[in-house]
Amino acid sequence: MKRAPLPLLLPVLVGGATALLCCGKPKAPEAPAHLTFQTIPEKLAADFSGDNAFKHVKAIVDLGPRPPASEGYEKTLQYLEKDFAANGWTTARQKFTRSTPQGPVEFTNLLARHKTGEADWTKSTPVVISGHLDSKRMEAFQFVGANDGGSSTGVILELARVLGTDPASAAKVEFVLFDGEEALLHTISPTDGLYGSKYYARELTKRHNQPAFGIVLDLVGDDDRDFFFNPETPEKFAIAVEAAAKDSGLTKLRRPQGAILDDHVPLQEVGLPCLHIIGDFMNMPYWHQQGDTMENIDADALKKTGRTTLRFLSSVAP
Ligand SMILES: [Zn+2]
Repeated sequence: MKRAPLPLLLPVLVGGATALLCCGKPKAPEAPAHLTFQTIPEKLAADFSGDNAFKHVKAIVDLGPRPPASEGYEKTLQYLEKDFAANGWTTARQKFTRSTPQGPVEFTNLLARHKTGEADWTKSTPVVISGHLDSKRMEAFQFVGANDGGSSTGVILELARVLGTDPASAAKVEFVLFDGEEALLHTISPTDGLYGSKYYARELTKRHNQPAFGIVLDLVGDDDRDFFFNPETPEKFAIAVEAAAKDSGLTKLRRPQGAILDDHVPLQEVGLPCLHIIGDFMNMPYWHQQGDTMENIDADALKKTGRTTLRFLSSVAP
C-alpha cells in the first residue's frame, strides 16, 4: 500500500481496488437527492442466502478470467443476463470505448431494473447498487478474481433474487455491474481504471432525475479479514450501516484510516452520496495474485454482506 507523501494530504490507501488521490479528500456530497427513498421491509434480509451467493461466485470463477473485451467477460455477461431475467429483472448493456494505456478498449457495463419498476432508462430509480464485474488482466498468470470482482457479483445476483420476491422493493433499485474497474497497468491512476463507473456516472447526470444514493460493494467474500466503509459517507449512512452490520454479524466492519479510491468515487463526484463496503485487501496476501480463488471465499461473508446491505436499505431514508 502507498500513502500520500505529504502530511498535509489525506492519507490514502492504494491498490487495484484502489489507488490514490493525489489531491485530497474524495468529494463527499450531502446535496439534496432528486428522488426520495422509501425503506424496504427488514424481513427481506433474512431471506438472503450466502450459499446461493457462493454458487454464483463459483459459477463465475468457473467461466475463467474476465478482463474487459474478453471471451470470459462475454460469457459472464450472459450468465448474469440469464439469472437476472429468471428473477424478473430486465438488463441493458452499456457499451463505450475508451483510450487506455494499452490502446482503445470497448467496455460493457451491465444494468438491471425490475420488470415492475421504471422502464425508462432516462429516468432513475431511488437507489443504485453496484460492484465491478471485470477481473484484472494479468499476463504472467491466470487471474480469476474470486474475491476481487466475483464476490460482489455473487452478492448482487442474490440481492436481485431476494428483492425480486417483493416487487415494490425491487422497483426502487437499479443494479450496475461495472466493467474496467481494474487498471490495465499496475494500479488505478487518474488515466487508468474505474472506466465503467466514470462512464456510468457521466451518463447518470444526463437523466431526468437522480437516485437518492448508491451502494458499492467490492472484495466482500473473505470472512477472515476486516471490512471497511468509506469514511466520507454521509453520517446518517455511517450510523445506519454500523447498526445493519451489527445485526447481520458483520462485526469486522469499520472505518479505515484513509480514503479508498474505488467505483464509488466517480459516483460521489457527480453528486451521488454513496456507501462503499470493501474487504481489507491490504491484508489479503492473494490480492491481485494467482491465489484469488474460491479457497478464500466464505458463504458466511457473502451472507453478512448481503444482509447488511438489505438492513441498511430498510433503515436509511435520506
Ligand atoms: Zn482488483
